[in-house]
Amino acid sequence: MPAFICVTCGTQFSPTEAPPSLCPICTDDRQFVGWEGQAWTTLEKLRATHKLRFEDEDEDVTGIGIEPHFGIGQRALLVRTPDGNVLWDCVALVGEEAMHRIEAQGGLKAIAISHPHYYTVMAEWSDAFGGIPIFLHEDDRKWVTREHRTIAYWKGDSHEIAPDLTLIRCGGHFPGATVMHCSRGAKGNGVVFAGDVIAVNLDRTSVSFMHSFPNYIPLDARAVRRIHKVMAPYRFEKIFGAFSRRNVMADGRAVFDRSIARYLKAIGASPSSSRSR
Ligand SMILES: [Zn+2]
Ligand SMILES: [Zn+2]
Repeated sequence: MPAFICVTCGTQFSPTEAPPSLCPICTDDRQFVGWEGQAWTTLEKLRATHKLRFEDEDEDVTGIGIEPHFGIGQRALLVRTPDGNVLWDCVALVGEEAMHRIEAQGGLKAIAISHPHYYTVMAEWSDAFGGIPIFLHEDDRKWVTREHRTIAYWKGDSHEIAPDLTLIRCGGHFPGATVMHCSRGAKGNGVVFAGDVIAVNLDRTSVSFMHSFPNYIPLDARAVRRIHKVMAPYRFEKIFGAFSRRNVMADGRAVFDRSIARYLKAIGASPSSSRSR
């Protein structure tokens, strides 16, 4: 039975005879159904028409995207650490070439994904590397369309997956929306892998926050203040966004703090909750 993949968002479903009737990721108000209606493909078909694109984005960080454009268009990141490599976020394609390229760089130890828009074919990636764990936040479990034995759900606001790698639940975009902090990154000054939970803007010197990007639904002040609070203990110089080279490469902490203040001002809220609304 084929494991169908939604063409608009790239999410793979558990194998079924016939395609699912709809994609819950795309009918949710954060996403949209393709203008020609719900369409499906499979990993096999995608392998014939698309390929993975590898692009170094920093010393120990390689972007892995799909070309030509497919689904939402995000790229995953291969993050190399002394304790092993982690795939941050995911894309809807994996095959022999990717396996060989990544094995040549030390393989993969785990997968961690920021939120359901990037779950894509995570089960295939896990299996391709011998059944490595996929770290997902428990609060987004209802969005998993292909349950897999290697999914490791975690709870709470933070979870260390390696000595210098911490998953942090920011919430906002999704209840379990997660970023990954690497304390050893940027020569010990810290790095945040942000998905679109903390979205790096096109100027690459500011970030923003949305419930829905395609439908332009902003987050409320409470959600943004919460993100600010949960990130307070962490130092970081760089912020890696969700798309190819959409990264803040300097002063990440100041960029983040400044962007929070700008956002709250733009929606007519004050920076501290006591004086708001
Ligand atoms: Zn979809
Ligand atoms: Zn998203």
